[in-house]
Amino acid sequence: MLERFSGPMVELYNQIELEMLKKLGKALYFKTELLEEDPEAWMVQQLQMMGMLDQQNIRILQQYSGKTVQEINAMLVGSGVYDLEETEEDIKDAIINGAQLAVPPPINQSPQILAIMDAYQAQAASKMNLVNTTLLDQSKQVYIDGLNKAALEVRAGFKSHDQVLREVIKGWVDKGVPALIRSDGAKLGVEGYVRTVVISTMNNMTNELQDQRNIDYGIELVEISSHAGNRPGCRPYAGKVFSLQPNHPRFPYLYDRGIGRIGDPDSLFGINCGHKKYAFVEGMSERTYKPPKSEKEDQKIYEQSQMQRKLERDIRKAKNQLAVFEAANDNEGIKESKQLIRDRQLKMKEFIEATGRTRRNYREQIHT
Ligand SMILES: [Zn+2]
Repeated sequence: MLERFSGPMVELYNQIELEMLKKLGKALYFKTELLEEDPEAWMVQQLQMMGMLDQQNIRILQQYSGKTVQEINAMLVGSGVYDLEETEEDIKDAIINGAQLAVPPPINQSPQILAIMDAYQAQAASKMNLVNTTLLDQSKQVYIDGLNKAALEVRAGFKSHDQVLREVIKGWVDKGVPALIRSDGAKLGVEGYVRTVVISTMNNMTNELQDQRNIDYGIELVEISSHAGNRPGCRPYAGKVFSLQPNHPRFPYLYDRGIGRIGDPDSLFGINCGHKKYAFVEGMSERTYKPPKSEKEDQKIYEQSQMQRKLERDIRKAKNQLAVFEAANDNEGIKESKQLIRDRQLKMKEFIEATGRTRRNYREQIHT
C-alpha cells in the first residue's frame, strides 16, 4: 500500500536525478582527446560548459516540477482518504457491536481533518522545493569534482583517459546527486532522502488523521497489528492495545517516549513499516493479534528484507549506469554495465533461491 501512493513520487525524483546525470555524462565526454593531450586545457573547455549544463538542469526541474507538486498532493490525499476509510470501517464494526460513540461531521467536512491534510501538503511541498534547489546546486559540484578527479588521474599517468572518465561516471552513478546537505555536512542522496521524506510525511499524516478521527468518535484505544519480521523499532508495539490519551488506567499511552519513537523512520509507522492501527473498544472489540513471540525469527526476516532492498537498489544503480554510458556514447562502458546488471541479477536470483522470499521485479526497474 505504501508503494502504491509513494512509488510514483520517488520514481519521479529518481528520473530527475538520472536525467541530470545523463546530461553531465554527455558533457564529460565532449572532445576527450584533449584530456589526453592537455588536461589543463580540457578543464577550461569543460568548465565553459557549466552555464549550458545549468540551463539544461533547470529545464529538467521545470519539466518535472508541475508533476512533483501534483504527485505530492495526490499521494497525501490518496493515502489519507484510504486509511481514514479503513478507520471508519473499524468504527462501524464497533458501533454494530454496541459501542456508544459520538457522531462527528463527515471526513470531507471535518475542519480538523482538512487542517491536518493542508499542513502536511505544505510541509511536503516546502521540503521538495529545498530538494530541487539542492539538486541544482549539487549537480554543478558533482560535475566539477568529476573534472578535477579526471584531470588529476590523467596527469598521474597510470590510467588511460577513457578509463579515468569511465570511473568518474561510475562514481557519479554510485553516489548520485545529493538531495540534501544535512547541518552536520552529511550528503543524502535522492534514493535515501526523497524516499524518507515522502514515506514519513505520508505515514505521519495518516497516523495523525486516524487518531483525530478516533478522538472525534470518542474512541480511546487502538490495537496495533503484528506480522512476521516485526522490526526492532516496531516490536514494542506489535499485537498490543494502546491508549490515544495519556494516563489511561489500564493501557499504556501510544506516544509515550518510554515505549519507542513513533514517527522516526525506523520506528512504528516509519519507513517501510507495514503495521496498522485499529480502533479498539474495551469489552466489545476482539483482540485480533498476539504480541510476537520469537525475537530471533523477527530479526532474521527483517534482515532478509533489508538485504533484498539493497540488492534491488544495486540492480537499479547498474541500470542507471548503463543509461548514463548510453547518453555518453561509451561502448566499453555500455558493455561493462550490461555485465554488471547480469551479475547483480544473478546475485538476486541466488538470494531468492536461498531464502524462499518473493522477488519484486518492479522494484528492480528504472524509468528512463
Ligand atoms: Zn512496523
